[in-house]
Amino acid sequence: MADQSCVFCKIINKALPVTLIEENDDCIVIEDIAPKAPVHYLIIPKKHIINVHDLDASTASIMSSMALMAKKIAQKLPEPKAFGLIINNGEQAGQTVLHMHQHFLSGAKLTDL
Ligand code: 5GP
Ligand code: ZN
Repeated sequence: MADQSCVFCKIINKALPVTLIEENDDCIVIEDIAPKAPVHYLIIPKKHIINVHDLDASTASIMSSMALMAKKIAQKLPEPKAFGLIINNGEQAGQTVLHMHQHFLSGAKLTDL
């Protein structure tokens, strides 16, 4: 169920402008508004799930959907197609938007981020 106050639900419902990279039935991929690497995308499930703590048996398949989406968008990267994936879970871990999302980062050594 969409949360009216959630910025990512608004983006999914096309109520806010974004640079859209990919979309399928399960997730969208957008450019992060404040990139921390030359390539910084957000893979966002369309369903309003707060974070990994919020998953259950009926929603956990979103993790494989997000992984397959990462694999798909990685095909557009230059060789060696290296990338990192990060999910922050909870404010103490740096989660600022309480709608689960996976950061897709490339183009820099992740150890330098
Ligand atoms: P978190 O800190 O929750 O792991 O990541 C949230 C990310 O969402 C941040 O990297 C932030 O720059 C990005 N973000 C927040 N609001 C917007 C927005 O309105 N549009 C886009 N494209 N990215 C956003
Ligand atoms: Zn949401």
